[in-house]
Amino acid sequence: MEDCIFCKIVKGDIPSKKAFENEHVLAFHDINPGAPVHVLLIPKKHIPTMNDVTAEDLQVIGEIHAAAQQVAQETGIAQSGYRLSNNCNKDGGQEVFHLHYHLMGGSKLGPLFA
Ligand code: 5GP
Ligand code: ZN
Repeated sequence: MEDCIFCKIVKGDIPSKKAFENEHVLAFHDINPGAPVHVLLIPKKHIPTMNDVTAEDLQVIGEIHAAAQQVAQETGIAQSGYRLSNNCNKDGGQEVFHLHYHLMGGSKLGPLFA
């Protein structure tokens, strides 16, 4: 996808601070962190939103969970705790239309709802 920032990060055309990489998954630190640790985990394949995930993508979704677990360990937030979340479309607050999961931790996070 030519106009997708996260595809450009996958290709190396835009620099990022990587936290994890394998054949199918890339994780990198968010440019505008909302927590002391804020890492984005993405499939290298361009999938626009959660709604576009198909059965053939389920392996990479599993790999993203495994990568999140590893990054949480390596950044020291596994025991204190963290949140793994996806924003889907407008009401979910999605701004970048390449599927990604936010891994956030390192301080007490606010409630998702009151
Ligand atoms: P969304 O609102 O789509 O769930 O989250 C998009 C996230 O991508 C935001 O937290 C934003 O700070 C991050 N982001 C946007 N552009 C870049 C970039 O070029 N590099 C990095 N590392 N993060 C980005
Ligand atoms: Zn993309």
